[in-house]
Amino acid sequence: GAPVLLHLILASSSTYTVPPTVLLLGPEGAGKTSLLTLFERGDDGPAPTHTTQTTQAVELSASVDSESRTSFRNHDDTSGTHTKFLMVDTPGHGKLRNVAMGKLARTEKLRALVFVVDAAALGEQDVLAQTAGYLHDVLLFLQKRATDQKSGAAKAGRIPVLIAANKMDLFTALPSTLVKTNLEAELTRIRATRSKGLLDSGVGMDEVGSEEQDGWLGEYGSEKFSFKQMQEFDIDVEVLPGNVTGDGPGADKWWWWIAQKI
Ligand code: GDP
Repeated sequence: GAPVLLHLILASSSTYTVPPTVLLLGPEGAGKTSLLTLFERGDDGPAPTHTTQTTQAVELSASVDSESRTSFRNHDDTSGTHTKFLMVDTPGHGKLRNVAMGKLARTEKLRALVFVVDAAALGEQDVLAQTAGYLHDVLLFLQKRATDQKSGAAKAGRIPVLIAANKMDLFTALPSTLVKTNLEAELTRIRATRSKGLLDSGVGMDEVGSEEQDGWLGEYGSEKFSFKQMQEFDIDVEVLPGNVTGDGPGADKWWWWIAQKI
């Protein structure tokens, strides 16, 4: 809303310190805007969402006090124990993906990424392929950032990733363990496809240039991709189930994960 915009304008003044930021990414329809609205409004239920064309930011505050564990109201910080942070929504539509990736590249004080997926639709191959394709680009970006010493990103710290397996209220939703393994299997396939020229050339692993290795997600040359391989680059990837609407585990686990990272 307007107060947030005003905040961002004020950010250009030298006295203003940039708050830590959590970026919401993921394909269109996964539930990013719904989730942001839920966190912004507290437990009163999300407002109807609209298609996100640009990024929008909401200022929130979280605490690692155990009593705040299930409370994602937009706290007024009276106790001084809450950390203010910005949560930023990005457009998920394929044509606007560059806006989201640009935001990822430019955000100062980026503390964490929340990649929202639709667990109820991930059983469909085209949704899985589209979702994993986007996730591949995001993870590869973080991997390159971590290995690029010149960028100074190494000093700035690694960015942990939460894969929010949303829509657990729907009976078609895959359990989060399956969300994880299905994404890993699809990422394995995507990784192999994108380096096919290289693999087919018969070049031995030792002779592969660093440029080719840079384009390979996770442990180079490994048969199967797993999220664990990102730890080699100090990137933690966690998959947690939840839902924004309907009956289910809700958004508490995600909120708690975020509170630990900011
Ligand atoms: P975005 O494109 O990622 O921002 O997705 P939206 O937030 O616009 O949500 C897309 C659709 O999914 C909307 O119709 C939401 O009401 C719906 N939706 C979001 N979260 C949930 C959920 O947890 N369960 C169910 N059943 N529907 C959801």
